[in-house]
Amino acid sequence: MTSLSPAEELLQDIGITEPDEIDVEVIAWSVGARVRYRALPQGDARIVGMGDRAIITVDDRASRVRQRFSVAHELGHWHHHRGQRLICHGSSTDSADDTCEREADRYAADLLMPRFMLEPSMAEASMSFELVNGVARRFQVSRLAAALRLADVHTGRFALIVDEPNGRRWFRRSAALPRGWRLRLDVPMGEQGGEPGFQPKQWSVPAYRLFLGRNRSGIQLRCETLHAASGQRLTLITVPV
Ligand SMILES: [Zn+2]
Repeated sequence: MTSLSPAEELLQDIGITEPDEIDVEVIAWSVGARVRYRALPQGDARIVGMGDRAIITVDDRASRVRQRFSVAHELGHWHHHRGQRLICHGSSTDSADDTCEREADRYAADLLMPRFMLEPSMAEASMSFELVNGVARRFQVSRLAAALRLADVHTGRFALIVDEPNGRRWFRRSAALPRGWRLRLDVPMGEQGGEPGFQPKQWSVPAYRLFLGRNRSGIQLRCETLHAASGQRLTLITVPV
């Protein structure tokens, strides 16, 4: 069994065993942080600490799933970066290139979707947006957060491409995807995209079209795309078993 991360340890210490018990305000309270909701001029959330007490302020206009992720992210800073001066713009699952932000995002994913709850709940389900939607509902997180977490935890072979509204494209790959395969990020995916709120569209494509590397011939990839609430388009590329 994999060892527990700090966030997963905290959940176990306070006796949380089910997704619907992951109440971020109660968890914050247990580590000395109070959560309040206000309109913030910038960013989704911030944390101010003094000694062993902190106040987390979350933008009251954000969606509930975003607020939960923001609180969990700030708790990540409280755990990892206490006493440091941080300029935090809240949750940033997409482009966190700063180490502190990545650590806080990692903590948030561990806290909101701990492995010891997620792994049994996904059982043998293959990777798909149906699974992503199920995880998002059950753990009250965004579909993007659920998809990124599954890229960490799921044993399937897949990659997730995220197209930002500003045109930037980035990706995450699962650990099981063949190591030598390099994703071609220049291949347009726009025409296959579904509209917001629609069921994900599905299509298939030969592996050589989307990946560079060896042993791709004859492999047909399964692709699905959907629009996330935050305006991103997610494309899931799965290598069949
Ligand atoms: Zn942060």
